[in-house]
Amino acid sequence: MLKNVPAWARFLIVGLLMIVPYVWFSDGPLQQFWYDAVATAGVAAMAVGIRRNRPEWAAGWWLLVVGQALNVLGDGIYFYVYNVLHHDAFPAPYDIPYLLSYVLMVLGLLSLLRRRNHGRDRAGLVDSLILASAFALLSWVFLMRPVAEDKSLGLLGQFVAMAYPTLDLLVLAMLAWLLTSDGPRNVAFLLVTANMVGFLVGDYFWAFAQQTMYNPSNLGSRLIDCAYLVAYVCFGAGALHPGMVQIGRPVGPDRLQSMTVQRLVLLAAATLIAPALLAWQAWHGHGQVHDAYAIVLGCVVMFLLVVARMMMLVRQVQAQAVVLEEQADRLREVAQQDPLTGLPNRRAWNAALPAALQRAARDGTPLTLAVLDLDHFKQFNDAYGHQAGDQLLKEVAVAWADNLRAVDLVARYGGEEFVVLLPGATAAEAVALLDRLRPRTPTGCTFSAGVATWNGAESADELVARADRALYRAKDAGRARIECAEATVTA
Ligand code: GH3
Ligand code: MG
Ligand code: MG
Repeated sequence: MLKNVPAWARFLIVGLLMIVPYVWFSDGPLQQFWYDAVATAGVAAMAVGIRRNRPEWAAGWWLLVVGQALNVLGDGIYFYVYNVLHHDAFPAPYDIPYLLSYVLMVLGLLSLLRRRNHGRDRAGLVDSLILASAFALLSWVFLMRPVAEDKSLGLLGQFVAMAYPTLDLLVLAMLAWLLTSDGPRNVAFLLVTANMVGFLVGDYFWAFAQQTMYNPSNLGSRLIDCAYLVAYVCFGAGALHPGMVQIGRPVGPDRLQSMTVQRLVLLAAATLIAPALLAWQAWHGHGQVHDAYAIVLGCVVMFLLVVARMMMLVRQVQAQAVVLEEQADRLREVAQQDPLTGLPNRRAWNAALPAALQRAARDGTPLTLAVLDLDHFKQFNDAYGHQAGDQLLKEVAVAWADNLRAVDLVARYGGEEFVVLLPGATAAEAVALLDRLRPRTPTGCTFSAGVATWNGAESADELVARADRALYRAKDAGRARIECAEATVTA
């Protein structure tokens, strides 16, 4: 039945099914055996998965495997010391593998995440630090401070008791960083996330049970155990999943970080934990706040992190604005340019002509324009092909632009028709200037032109229309010549 199911899914299903009956076991060797069997199977599956999938950064994965194996070892020692030797001391030998297991897990996650983020996702890191700071404050108030004040534990005991929540905080920070990072979120990613969540849930519920001096019922401790078992099974399945190789793979170049609503809500909730804690303690203590300094420190750290995040967003917006401005400049440029010849196009011409008329009116200088049209261009196209025609248009554009004055403006009006604006030139001067273009026009090609001088009153369109009519007269008269328009507008 499970033949077509991939190994990772088979392991996940069987593993989770194995956990279900565990809930009903009561303390004893069978329960311990069952626990160890499932946990060891998880760790073994991790090792098999790494061997099979050959992730690029195997060292990080092996740290995680050894870390979790040490945790299973710690459980075994705990059972032996507690149930066989009936020894109930704290700290105890099993604390060594337990603590070491967390150190290795944190190091493994850190090395994978550093590779995944390639030292880039700073925004994600700051967001994770904000979340971790909020949890650190809670952790201090509810888990660490009671230990710090409990002198009966002795110095070593206090150190060990504080080390657990501290390491949990580091795992939590890694989890937050993993979740805020870019990159693929495949099944393997979700399973590894579930592993971390399982460990944290187990640890925090266990710590909560201890702190409240509430002896967890049989079902309670089984459920806490289940959180760890789910964690082992999920990690085993995740390591077997072929997608696991992508988790530690560097993600592409830094994408623009989008601030999703969920993330914003999460960060807001995290930063509100400090004032909420303050209010709760003030209310509880009738104005006496027990953890005032811790809350102040938490607030300061979170404020600074939020300011750092704000700076990043501002910088991002500024960088985006620069890019957009450059794009807009480029678009404006493109919109004004004829793609074939590189000359200003009709749009640019339409904007330039009225401005030139205004300038001429203000300065009292003459202004002449000409409409130029290549002769028999259709024949050229027919004879040599459209591409040769394009080439000729480019050469004509270069030749004319190079041989006019710097103040003149030559634009492609459309097809093989060009317009030239000659500021300060009278009709006679314009004809002389255009005559200079004839010998410089590429061989075998002539043009006809109509010239019109602004009469000081007509509109830009009327001026162009007069030049156009002159052009038609030049064509009618046999082409390859320049005609001047009549001085007045014909009604
Ligand atoms: P006339 O002397 O009366 O101006 O004759 P003509 O053939 O130049 O004029 P007509 O308006 O009949 O034809 C213009 C030709 O210009 C037709 C069109 O195929 C060609 N043309 C217009 N734009 C382009 C272009 O971008 N590239 C090429 N290769 N040909 C073009
Ligand atoms: Mg023509
Ligand atoms: Mg034409």
